[in-house]
Amino acid sequence: MRAIRFQPGGVVELVDLPTPEPAEGEVLVRVAAAGVCRTDLHLLKEVASGERAPLVPGHETAGTVQKIGPGVGRVRAGDQVVVHFELPCGKCRSCIQKRTNLCTQGAALGFSVPGAYAEYVHVPEDVVLAAPRNLEPEAAATLACSGATAYHTVVTLGGADERDVVAVIGSGGVGLSAVQVAKARGAAVVAVDPREEAREAAKRVGADEVATPEEALAAILGASKDRGADLVVDLVSTGEAMQLGLAALGPGGRLVEVAPGGEGISVSPSLLMEKEITLVGAHSSTMADFARAVDLAEARLLKPVVARTAPLADAESVLRALENGEIVGRAVLRP
Ligand SMILES: [Zn+2]
Ligand SMILES: [Zn+2]
Repeated sequence: MRAIRFQPGGVVELVDLPTPEPAEGEVLVRVAAAGVCRTDLHLLKEVASGERAPLVPGHETAGTVQKIGPGVGRVRAGDQVVVHFELPCGKCRSCIQKRTNLCTQGAALGFSVPGAYAEYVHVPEDVVLAAPRNLEPEAAATLACSGATAYHTVVTLGGADERDVVAVIGSGGVGLSAVQVAKARGAAVVAVDPREEAREAAKRVGADEVATPEEALAAILGASKDRGADLVVDLVSTGEAMQLGLAALGPGGRLVEVAPGGEGISVSPSLLMEKEITLVGAHSSTMADFARAVDLAEARLLKPVVARTAPLADAESVLRALENGEIVGRAVLRP
């Protein structure tokens, strides 16, 4: 099968690999669509610097079950499916507590095992859900990371509800999903992004207000009658973004940090104490988050924004465009 591999030195190469066979409890999925996530850029940098071994990336997968392995009961060949990328061990303390996103013993599709930038992936049937019937595979694929991460961030950790003012900093793939999840919960949403196209996209998916980072504080205070936001979802996680997030929070507010790699800031304990502010990090998502994101998509409350589709061979140019900020929403490969 054809696949894209991140090779030493940061080369993005189209390679030919043996088509995998599904093992016990596994299904083989013919990949119809693979989302290109910003995390893939981090992985490419890590492979380039030698921190990480070469790999087949891709953790947003939609496709058709081609073949089932021994012992598979729920999923059948021919099913249209979406695939979650976390492959938790099922036995550790985090897994038993159903915080499978924090499992340290498991694997992850497109990280530690070959991912969806390929014609086929083999995964345990437990991480497979029926694809929403009303979505094309390109849109459905993105639910695995951008949709499920948005749900985990806005609802599971953020607890957004209809009384809340929610600010979303960064209107990329996850950000545009986060705006829609917050709207589905009935919250008022302010979306922040320096790029005009991204702000327009946020408006189209339902943001009540949009603002540049410079305008954001005034916009959030305006939307909350000077109280401040109840929830800030920070998908940028630079020092400036965190500073904005903290400054924008009202009493009892929650700041959720989603992106890795920012520089961080120092936070005064009295600020946290006086306003009872919660500062929390969001890592990935669980199958429960994924299932809720799929349900929202099926109910047409979450419409993934697919900015571009491209064949597998164009992976490198798509990654470059993403890095240059040219993609608003998700780019998706069609292996
Ligand atoms: Zn991702
Ligand atoms: Zn585990």
